[in-house]
Amino acid sequence: MFNTVTDIHVMNRLKLTSLLLPVFLVAPAMASASEVNVYSARQEALIKPLLDKFTGQTGIKTNLITGKAAALQARMKNEGRNTPADLFITVDAGNLHRAKEAGLLQQIGDAGIAATVPTNLQDNDGYWVGLSKRARVIFYAPDRVDPGELSTYEALTDGKWKGRVCIRSSSNIYNQSLVASMIADQGVDAAEQWAAGIVANMARPPSGGDRDQIKAVAAGQCDIAVSNTYYYGAMLNHKTDSSQVEAAKKVAVFWPNQADRGAHINVSGAGISKYSRNRDNAVALLEFLLSEESQQWYAAVNHEYPVIDAVTRSETVASWGTFKSDDLNLSRLGDLNAEAVKAMDRAGWK
Ligand code: FE
Repeated sequence: MFNTVTDIHVMNRLKLTSLLLPVFLVAPAMASASEVNVYSARQEALIKPLLDKFTGQTGIKTNLITGKAAALQARMKNEGRNTPADLFITVDAGNLHRAKEAGLLQQIGDAGIAATVPTNLQDNDGYWVGLSKRARVIFYAPDRVDPGELSTYEALTDGKWKGRVCIRSSSNIYNQSLVASMIADQGVDAAEQWAAGIVANMARPPSGGDRDQIKAVAAGQCDIAVSNTYYYGAMLNHKTDSSQVEAAKKVAVFWPNQADRGAHINVSGAGISKYSRNRDNAVALLEFLLSEESQQWYAAVNHEYPVIDAVTRSETVASWGTFKSDDLNLSRLGDLNAEAVKAMDRAGWK
């Protein structure tokens, strides 16, 4: 009896194997024909390991091209219908909006993705979604500034901060988006006045990136800096440059506008190329990038916040505590970008 049963199992297994064999033989050929091409304005180190993992899980090959957001957009525009790009990844809702306005993207059109990403962190018309979140907040020198003196972005225009504020140039999209968030909240005139007040309080003409503003506070050139949170995290954790670690340790983070709209946030995000030939694979990759595991890695590697609230933060990011963030729909940052640029120009923000 037992033998018969075993024999039947063996026979079934053999039949199954012979049925499955051709599938196994075909699979690798299909996998190599299946690919997705990624144009990324984020550095390779922030995306390549995830792409490799995606390939391991799905068999879909990934090709990665990295460059500056504007250069990649120009390239997609020149390539037109012949572009190999399937997925465009960049930072700042302002940049994502520009790609959409330039006609480089198509609607993602996936209900699952739309439902996964919080509504305020994705395009109103479905052309892009946020993949990671960052806050643009106030950093201060604890030996010279009592955090009790700090409250809002608006209050940084107070005369007591004259000659004490470091912030980068108005050509930078992060600042443009910050001003756009103020226009959304208070209108163009108030935002322009704020920009003029910041210019009046600058310790020096804008120079360098966000890290340089934090370094300037550490060096005593100014007492207040405005920077994205992940630069602070990266400096605190720098493996090879101890001067960055030391500088960051001399500076503390302050969450502005906690009694009203909350701290200004922005995203890195992605959209599907208008002429994508591997649309299904691009959707699959977006789904993968929004999975809990990817979200954890993607946010942690750059000291950002996941867009999925349930996902835990990195140790460094968690150590800063929780804060109230402005829940403004980030599509507005793109809509108001041109107004913001003009307001900063009129305010004399170099
Ligand atoms: Fe950045």
